[in-house]
Amino acid sequence: MPIVRLGDEGRWTNYHGTGTCEAATRFALRSGDAERGRDEIAIASGSVQDWLVDAVAAQRRVRPLGAGWSPSNINIASQCWLLHTRRFNRCFGIDAADVRPGVDASGLMLVEAGALVDEVSDKLEAQGRSLWTSGAGNGQTFAGACATGTHGSMIASGGIQDHIRAVQIVTPAGIHWIEPATGLMNDAFVAATGSVPMRDDDLFAASQLPVGSLGIITALVVDSVPKFLVRPIQNLRKVDRAALGWLAAGDFRRFSAAYALDRDPDFVQMIVNPYKPFKRPAMLRFLYREPWRDDYPRATPGQLGAGYDALSLLGRLLDDYPWARGALLQFAMKQGYASGPDVDVPPVYGSWGEGLDTHRPLADLFNASVTIDRADLAHAFELICDVYARHGGSTVITVRFMARAEGLLAPARFPHNAVIDFDGPRSPRTADAYARVVERLDAEGIAFTRHWAKSCRLDAARVAADYGEDFRRWRAARDRLLPDPAHRALFGSEILDGLGLTC
Ligand SMILES: Cc1cc2nc3c(=O)[nH]c(=O)nc-3n(C[C@H](O)[C@H](O)[C@H](O)COP(=O)(O)OP(=O)(O)OC[C@H]3O[C@@H](n4cnc5c(N)ncnc54)[C@H](O)[C@@H]3O)c2cc1C
Repeated sequence: MPIVRLGDEGRWTNYHGTGTCEAATRFALRSGDAERGRDEIAIASGSVQDWLVDAVAAQRRVRPLGAGWSPSNINIASQCWLLHTRRFNRCFGIDAADVRPGVDASGLMLVEAGALVDEVSDKLEAQGRSLWTSGAGNGQTFAGACATGTHGSMIASGGIQDHIRAVQIVTPAGIHWIEPATGLMNDAFVAATGSVPMRDDDLFAASQLPVGSLGIITALVVDSVPKFLVRPIQNLRKVDRAALGWLAAGDFRRFSAAYALDRDPDFVQMIVNPYKPFKRPAMLRFLYREPWRDDYPRATPGQLGAGYDALSLLGRLLDDYPWARGALLQFAMKQGYASGPDVDVPPVYGSWGEGLDTHRPLADLFNASVTIDRADLAHAFELICDVYARHGGSTVITVRFMARAEGLLAPARFPHNAVIDFDGPRSPRTADAYARVVERLDAEGIAFTRHWAKSCRLDAARVAADYGEDFRRWRAARDRLLPDPAHRALFGSEILDGLGLTC
């Protein structure tokens, strides 16, 4: 039986302790041992549909859970049925015989929705393939990460949801196999998964980034690229004001030549102290992609510069000692980041997956972001640091870069994006400072969007204004998938209703 009930009704708190579901009845979806993925998925999706019908009969809303990482509480709903998917995590190869004529199956993998990004990455790398981007951590489930448009700082790539080629979504009324209009898997394969095909571009683009509002995702077809190596460079450097202009113009080569290697970087990340951002060294991370070779010397995630937890932990001091905030933040940056590898040490290499790390749970985390058009960076960055520091924001500011991402509700919707994150310890002052930042961006007429998974003070009116015609298309696609308003409400919660996604 793929779905099991876990104990009595009670409380459930998400991974980083930012929200609690009260009076929740918890269930778990678990993988079976079928030899073929399509058979396993057919059994699981049938059980999920029965479970949804039972939830409707019991007059309970449902909330699917990935790893529970989202601090925006889009994974929180009270008086509901929770479905843990973390143990539904097998991955299967796809054969040329399973796809439609003209489709190249070589990079495709069938992934159960609860597989961690880390697990998917490991499975792909064992077959000489790789994801081409992901977030800074890899402990999210694949479906959960896609649900919010998780991204890193690969300059020429979009979000993790760009890897999706097909999705299986279960609603009380059906088991749907959603693909772009051109199609991907052949009808025999789709039928064997127990699903009915829906080949439609808008429905697919809505399902790539569903924010947990379109049903239960049970499986995904994930695409990949041939495995590659990355060489990291990580250092603390004072960044010149003029260098922001190079980044805004997309001249990453010039930025890299000034602060790391005179090569085109594939990944550029800058973590700055908002208190005097040009006077205090910033933490820079560059990745340079190279062709795969088997004989590279193995390095640990630490040697590759993965993770920066120390920053968040030391950051707690900032709130207690406001007079020393700038200096303490710099101390935390140095402690958490000093170890390189810089340009003057022998190079280290790793695969994409080896350069990522899972994350320890942090209570009382503050997470927020704004995504802006990269062209606005030079002007917006100083303004953001100034407002944030003046109002006592107590986190570092991280700047990452990415291309336009797929999915109608992808926050990275500008042709080239600069994503500015405010991550650290929760405090009313920090939340207020972030609120002042978004007020100021509005006042200056600088367009921006916000991350679905972070505590970004979003509401339905703002979502509708930010996404415009794409939001209308997303809702039209939702209404075709979930024509019965009662079924839309089934996937609602206080937060999702408030964003205008489920009502
Ligand atoms: C420490 C930390 C580091 C992070 N780093 C980054 C980063 O580098 N870049 C970035 O962009 N983001 C980052 N994030 C945000 C993170 O990637 C997102 O919160 C992501 O959505 C978490 O995935 P999850 O599996 O935990 O999903 P959850 O938080 O469990 O769920 C997210 C949403 O998806 C829904 N959902 C989950 N599974 C399913 C399913 N099977 N079917 C339907 N709906 C489902 C949930 O109901 C919920 O609405 C970070 C967050 C933390 C806490």
